[in-house]
Amino acid sequence: LSIRFKPWLEALAYLVLPNACVYCGVPIPGSDVGLCSACHHELEPVSPEYEEHYKAIVASSSINQFAIGFNYGPVFQEILENLKYNNARRNAIFLGELLRQQRLSDAFCKQHVFVPIPLHRKKERKRGYNQAALIARGIGATVSNLLMRAINNPTQTKLDKEQRKANVEGIFAIDPQQRLTIATDTPLCLVDDVATSGATLNAAADVLAGAGYRDISATAVATPIMDDFF
Ligand SMILES: [Zn+2]
Repeated sequence: LSIRFKPWLEALAYLVLPNACVYCGVPIPGSDVGLCSACHHELEPVSPEYEEHYKAIVASSSINQFAIGFNYGPVFQEILENLKYNNARRNAIFLGELLRQQRLSDAFCKQHVFVPIPLHRKKERKRGYNQAALIARGIGATVSNLLMRAINNPTQTKLDKEQRKANVEGIFAIDPQQRLTIATDTPLCLVDDVATSGATLNAAADVLAGAGYRDISATAVATPIMDDFF
């Protein structure tokens, strides 16, 4: 896109044009949230080499199947930023809808109980919502908060691959109440917003497997393109 709004103008545009494209701000008639078709075309589906890379990571873990929606390139980054301006909750659900559209051919995205990667209670209270849980809602079907965060670990952003792995050790636990409602033969699909090293999803899957769950998949809306992956 050659013509872009300044961020504050975008924020203003959302106030007066609530049915605007989350990326470029053009009105979308009859829709409460979304991307115009031009911007939709600018989203990059995940690169095959990144998806292969993730499949290799999870091959040695408790995750059976894995699917990512998009490359977290400049366009997606911009969209995620813009999503914060107006109705963040609804927009997170929209991310899940995007993911569902993108990965509709993956059978496991249809039949599973979706388990969002939890935030620590303190973090969730501060933010007011868990983005992964809203994304799971956008994907549809059944959502269960089967996992909880036992430890409020520091954010992964500045850590390398090995540090990320250590940072997520022991941070997840099974919610005993939810466990009673979900049989161990239920197919589960973990949901995260952005998958980076795969350490978080693997740690979460190991906890589910440790509780007896046998059919565990995982999905994320996007993955960043980072050199230290390989
Ligand atoms: Zn647009």
